[in-house]
Amino acid sequence: MNRNGIDRRAALKAAAGLAGGALAPGSLFGQPGAGASGKSLPGRGEFVVRGATVLTMDSAIGDFARGDVHVSNGVIVAVGAELASGAATVLDGRGMICMPGFIDTHWHLWTSFLRPLMRIDDARRGYFPVSNRLGRFYTPEDSYRSVRLGLAEALAAGATTVHNWAHNVRSPGHAAAELSAMRDTGMRGRFAYGPAQGMPNEQPMDLDGLARIQREWMPNDGMLTLGICSRNVGNTANVLRGNIPLEIVRKDWGGARALGLPITLHTSGPSPITFLDEAKLLGPDVQLVHPLLTTPEERQILRERGVSYSISPVGESRRPASAGVMQLGELLEAGVKVSMSIDHTGTFNCDFFECMRLLYNLHQHRIGARVLLTAKRLVQLATLDGAVDLGIAERTGSLTPGKRADLILVRTGDINITPVGDPYEALVSLAQPGNVDTVIVDGRILRRGGAFTALDHAQIVKEASAAVAALASRANWN
Ligand SMILES: [Zn+2]
Repeated sequence: MNRNGIDRRAALKAAAGLAGGALAPGSLFGQPGAGASGKSLPGRGEFVVRGATVLTMDSAIGDFARGDVHVSNGVIVAVGAELASGAATVLDGRGMICMPGFIDTHWHLWTSFLRPLMRIDDARRGYFPVSNRLGRFYTPEDSYRSVRLGLAEALAAGATTVHNWAHNVRSPGHAAAELSAMRDTGMRGRFAYGPAQGMPNEQPMDLDGLARIQREWMPNDGMLTLGICSRNVGNTANVLRGNIPLEIVRKDWGGARALGLPITLHTSGPSPITFLDEAKLLGPDVQLVHPLLTTPEERQILRERGVSYSISPVGESRRPASAGVMQLGELLEAGVKVSMSIDHTGTFNCDFFECMRLLYNLHQHRIGARVLLTAKRLVQLATLDGAVDLGIAERTGSLTPGKRADLILVRTGDINITPVGDPYEALVSLAQPGNVDTVIVDGRILRRGGAFTALDHAQIVKEASAAVAALASRANWN
């Protein structure tokens, strides 16, 4: 019994009972490989969103108070007012904001189903102790079910692209399982192949496994890309995870670069930017995560090297003051590429509206008018900037003819948001994930009327619940 009087084992058993007991036998994630996406997903038809408030995030096109978006076979073919669209199916956009889907740029999807084990008010049950300990017991099937649960939430919240920061790749099979979950849900994204939880810092990452995943999965139909996530780096103490030695950094990063793959790195704790720059390791293929403790000199280095920085507002705002503050204003002022990320959903949600709102609030609190931050700039951070960060802005991030159709419709009549004046103001100040009505990824309508069109919500929840209960039992978790 814990201090709130809830028996943890009983809660887990209840979750497993709800889930109907044992896991289904056999692999659920089929064959890996290119071109296999979307077998059970809706097709890419031809349709036109009519009469919506259209926010394109393309400065050359602008916005439309009442506009249309015409999509054919996954491609945006036209954006404008009263478009002629022939026999295209009409999606009624009246009472909706039509905008690019949200783009996450750093998310540990493998931890999604650990929720019943985590607490925000008990350090022993915090995100890190739970994920560090349980991660060692993951099977590929666990990875699949946890990632799929997180992706389902992502879609429901209006995300159309994620950067799956997979730092528990225990075998190439685990990587294939996570990629299968991305493929099967129809999500666009980058898979960042990482180490495994508990791996010694002196051991290089599995570059052979990485190369195999690249051979088997890349290139595909354009939905999924590949990179690596690095373990922490630096020449100062890092109490959370430790740092890998410079020779291992060179092996891991060099191996990724030899395959043409980008690199992402947490900078939690003391900043490693000067250290990395002196080692000549920074370049435009590097994304850093958590901009909390950078100096003006380091921000200059980042701008010059073309390094991007991903901000995870909800998780970062939970850290103690000594961990630093979210430096969005400083990064924008220095001209560093920035983007927005969810981080994890173990103890909070995928909620881009909350992320934008929180960033605005903290910016006002700390910096205010010295660095102007508009609602539109925040929507750009949550959409187009993410595509730029992930190197896929030619494909997604704005409603631009020729780009793939990754777009969402947000209801403007719901009680928490209506009546809507300026749409950007409504999105940043008022909207919630529950207002997301329709989600379209690569021309496939994956959510309509706030419900999945193909994914089986009940099955995803049932299998994730059963898997985490079985995992906790295997790990003797109590
Ligand atoms: Zn992270």
